[in-house]
Amino acid sequence: MKVINPRTGEADYEIAPIDAAAVQAEAARLRAAQPAWAALEPEARSAILHRWADAVVEHRETLLDALTLDTGRRRISEIEVDGLPGTIRRWADLAPRLIAEHSRDNQPSAHPTVRNSTRLVPYPLFGAIAPWNFPIVLSTIDAIPALAAGCAALVKPSEITPRFIAPLRETIAAVPELAAVLSFVEGDPATGQALVEAVDYVCFTGSVATGRKVAEAAARAFIPANLELGGKDPMIVLASADPASAAHLALRASIVATGQACQSIERIYVARAIYQPFLDALVDVASKVRLNYPDIATGDIGPFIFGPQGAKVQAQIDEAAAMGAKVLTGGTVETLGGGQYLKPTVIADATADMAVVRDETFGPVLPVIAFDDVEDAIAQANDSIYGLSAAVVAATADEAEAVAVRLEAGAVSINDGSLTSMVWDAENSSFKLSGMGPSRMGESGLLRFFRKQALIRQTANPLPLAAYAEDAPK
Ligand code: NAD
Repeated sequence: MKVINPRTGEADYEIAPIDAAAVQAEAARLRAAQPAWAALEPEARSAILHRWADAVVEHRETLLDALTLDTGRRRISEIEVDGLPGTIRRWADLAPRLIAEHSRDNQPSAHPTVRNSTRLVPYPLFGAIAPWNFPIVLSTIDAIPALAAGCAALVKPSEITPRFIAPLRETIAAVPELAAVLSFVEGDPATGQALVEAVDYVCFTGSVATGRKVAEAAARAFIPANLELGGKDPMIVLASADPASAAHLALRASIVATGQACQSIERIYVARAIYQPFLDALVDVASKVRLNYPDIATGDIGPFIFGPQGAKVQAQIDEAAAMGAKVLTGGTVETLGGGQYLKPTVIADATADMAVVRDETFGPVLPVIAFDDVEDAIAQANDSIYGLSAAVVAATADEAEAVAVRLEAGAVSINDGSLTSMVWDAENSSFKLSGMGPSRMGESGLLRFFRKQALIRQTANPLPLAAYAEDAPK
């Protein structure tokens, strides 16, 4: 299978997607090693995970080079690669305490002679299917806590961005105990389908359409499906906000990673009292944003990672313009050196019936809508099939938070935007079609990978059958 380079548009890499039989064979290998992994003390697993973090640090340069080719961007690739050891160490350090805190030994019960214990029993084989927008973060974010819990893990990254798999495998091979229970495979959608049939718990990150297929397949296989899907995050800017600083943070929260982030701000509702100064400030800062072309070491945003995404985003912009919206800056996807680029695109007078306001865009596009009444802004923000995250900006955090609690979204940034990309300890659920299942953030990020086993110990003589006889004394 050929892989396209996002900066050149050329097919300069190949993968060999593994078929269902190979997925089953890999699953069998991991399953065979998992009982010994789960039998280790949590501290022993943590020590092994720390060695993996060390190996990632040692392989930093090769990982970074591969991920940069995968995504066409350097700075965010650095953030992904340099963040990985920290994520591994964080879960390695947290897991022993969480496992101890949530296990129970020899507890009293309602029956005086019966004592209870609760064991946390990991699902044997965890599976992850990941998208292309943050290839390393999103293929490791669930697998690391699953490993810390004692699961084995089978991971299938996106076929659009598979170059990092080879160097990451070297980091895993450097830690043989880990290599026995962790595998990254190259694969396409069919490999993903086979993975769902081979594992005991699946975490899927990607589009709603694929998430629905994964959930259906997981239901047939009778395994839990944890879904993290798309979003159309709203930002509400209240009249008390400073328009210039709100414009700055809206821009960053919308266009970082060329807007190819699930938690990007994709529609902005601004109080009419500050609509014009906000818009002026936004156009000013947006028009100064530089593409990272031709020199990848300069600029602010890179190409679309998945080329066809450019045409999809262009269609939304063109439809909005045809329906009467005003494109104030940006607006045209450019082909430069074979890559597809778009400068930040600010759209004024957008309306709810436009795809750019309704559907996920996944590009650096900021439709701005004025509101007169905050109730109307809340209603518009909630008028979406998605409920991933949101943002509210006001003069004070309390004023913003009073609006935040009214929003149908799993996480709301107060006086900032897209904070879920940086803050991983706050538990949050994805509302509506943005996802299903327990939070990947916070403590549940680990605890979701356990089933609970009760050990119920009788300390006296068991009840005789006679206790249930119809004529037994009451
Ligand atoms: P996608 O749904 O097209 O693909 C994701 C993965 O699913 C790929 O690895 C693909 O090979 C695999 N796949 C495809 N068909 C499959 C099937 N039938 N069974 C099993 N696996 C299958 O998503 P994408 O285009 O790679 O990613 C972009 C989407 O991901 C956007 O909608 C974005 O919002 C979403 N996303 C969500 C989050 C989140 O945390 N909520 C984070 C990042 C991206």
